[in-house]
Amino acid sequence: MLSESARPLIEATAPVIAERLPDIAPKFYKSMFEAEPQLIEEGIFSRANQRTGEQPLALAGSVVAFATHILNHPDSYPDELLSRVAHKHTSLGIVEGQYPIVEKHLLGAIADDLGDALTPEVAAAWTEVYWLMADALIKLEKGLYSEQANDSVFNEFTLVDKRETSEGTYVLTYEPADDTPMTDAVAGQYVSIKVRLPEGIEQSRQFTLIPVDNPRQRRLAVKQDMDGEVSPVVTAMEVGSTVKLSNPYGDVVLTGSTAPLVLISSGIGVTPMVAFLDRLVAEGSQRQVTAFRVDSSDAAAPLLEEQKALIEKLPEARFERWTVEEGEADHIGRADFGAQGVDAGAEVYLCGSLDFMKETRSALIGAGIPGKQIRYEIFGPDLWMLHDDAVEYHADAE
Ligand code: FAD
Repeated sequence: MLSESARPLIEATAPVIAERLPDIAPKFYKSMFEAEPQLIEEGIFSRANQRTGEQPLALAGSVVAFATHILNHPDSYPDELLSRVAHKHTSLGIVEGQYPIVEKHLLGAIADDLGDALTPEVAAAWTEVYWLMADALIKLEKGLYSEQANDSVFNEFTLVDKRETSEGTYVLTYEPADDTPMTDAVAGQYVSIKVRLPEGIEQSRQFTLIPVDNPRQRRLAVKQDMDGEVSPVVTAMEVGSTVKLSNPYGDVVLTGSTAPLVLISSGIGVTPMVAFLDRLVAEGSQRQVTAFRVDSSDAAAPLLEEQKALIEKLPEARFERWTVEEGEADHIGRADFGAQGVDAGAEVYLCGSLDFMKETRSALIGAGIPGKQIRYEIFGPDLWMLHDDAVEYHADAE
């Protein structure tokens, strides 16, 4: 819990720091990577996310969002935020000893940005906040590591099958290159894949696990982003190549709910939906399931046949799809999910681009679905969750 002495100092400075984050975040990363280049070179941080500015903002923003939460709700922590971060951290192999590095450079950047406004007392209060959050994450991360079937962060896997599922998206199947035990994945979880780029540095990205019959395999659907660093390398690999894969992590998984389930995806965001459908089929689920998907075209619709086949095996499932371009979809043009008659008690999962999810979530909330029933996976740094917390703080503060 935040100390009584720190509380008013955090209250007074959180809005200023929140506003200054776009300036603080790049300074923080610049100084950290100048001092510790191995954090990028060994693939712990994404170089692309650093360049686009999303990751530093997400990381620095998470500390402010944490502070905001404990000001508003002194008796609790933002569990959803911490869990999301801890799963991502463990998939990258982040360890306790790296937290002081982030502290030094983040607080250094805040000090640099605020100048004399950052008194020693205010700096001490933010150090306290940082360590409340860091200690909570370290505890969660130790728990997640201890649940794994092996104690290595990355293991060597061999690509044993590769096929194109849609334009520019490849389904890749891997098997362990040795007899290291594999952790069973829960539907909706992802692995980090680590590859060496042509210039020599390593980079990691996350990919959702899609269903496999053989428990000694991992299967992924990877969409090529030709401006990206990792997906072009991964999708160019031939059968027989090896990569490093992490154990499975991720907390956007099905709950035990029996409420109607609505799965809404755009493009490659279909991967967790296919994993969920496969689990429902395996369980012989009688649940009412609605799957909606949007794609730019039929040719660019990943895992379409696999998704349809799973839907057909569920007794209470409905499936509708939209494409931007003319084709065989049920609808051509933009989807308005607020007008699809989604049950107000439904449990909804979203995955797709951030803009698509924002628009869809707003439409669903407008149609009477409570926000807490809508869960989502973001295929990148999660700026959305932070934004929601920041909004909550300003609303309460007014
Ligand atoms: P990056 O190198 O990360 O680049 C991403 C974008 O940033 C590029 O479009 C590029 O234009 C831009 N960029 C890079 N450098 C700069 C710069 N200097 N200035 C401006 N812009 C720049 N993807 C899938 O295909 N399938 C999945 O199942 C899947 N599941 C995921 C699950 C999770 C939990 C997460 C977090 C992500 C998932 N992703 C998935 C996304 C995946 O992890 C990668 O983000 C994606 O493949 C792009 O990676 P990349 O290395 O190719 O591109």
